[in-house]
Amino acid sequence: MENIIEIKNLYKTYTVKGAEPLNAIDDLSLNVKEGEFVAIKGVSGSGKTTLLNIIGTLDSPTKGSVKILGKEISKMKPGQLAAFRNDNIGFVLQDFALIPYNTGYENIEVPLLFTHKKINHKEMIEKIAKDIEIENLLNQKVNTMSGGQKQRVAIARALVNDPKIILADEPTGALDNKTKKIIIDMLRSVADSGKTVIMVTHDDKAASVADRIITISDGKI
Ligand code: ADP
Ligand code: MG
Repeated sequence: MENIIEIKNLYKTYTVKGAEPLNAIDDLSLNVKEGEFVAIKGVSGSGKTTLLNIIGTLDSPTKGSVKILGKEISKMKPGQLAAFRNDNIGFVLQDFALIPYNTGYENIEVPLLFTHKKINHKEMIEKIAKDIEIENLLNQKVNTMSGGQKQRVAIARALVNDPKIILADEPTGALDNKTKKIIIDMLRSVADSGKTVIMVTHDDKAASVADRIITISDGKI
């Protein structure tokens, strides 16, 4: 299969006043195939979030090449990047990043408000809700949901635009063991449906469902 992500000799250097420059990502190369489920492990501060944010085009490389779907992201203009990200990448975060006083439906709809893809909002949201069994959450306000329910809504939001890539940064970090398993199984079936999933996790059990586990240490694999 094709590489959907190609990273070559990537560096991300942070320069904080009064300190030595820090290579949060230090000469890292990585290819990910379309449909692959990759887990990224590593201690706190090893560069996992920095890497995920660069793949997600939220952050830019200091040096090196990052190609997503064959496109060199550092060559794209900010407006192009935003559209590219919205079309191709879905995010799932540890703290869910949902709008608390809005309903499940309203939260899942957000990426659709910014897409040029022709998607019927109601049909798509109801289909995804059915697929992942959260139809009962569509009319419920997020601030009344459990952590596991919130994360399922967040996964629906990540999927609603039909992106090719799902990036999950410690998606089970705030969940109990039973709920963890539900979320991990859900991400596994997202990958089985043909999407590429990259998940940062501390949890060995969670990582074990991935096709490949990579460990990052001091910004290197
Ligand atoms: P992880 O997600 O593995 O815990 P991060 O990618 O968040 O690690 O951070 C990697 C390193 O880069 C850490 O030493 C962190 O302090 C540093 N870092 C991250 N973001 C910034 C920033 N915006 N400015 C300065 N240093 C940063
Ligand atoms: Mg992190």
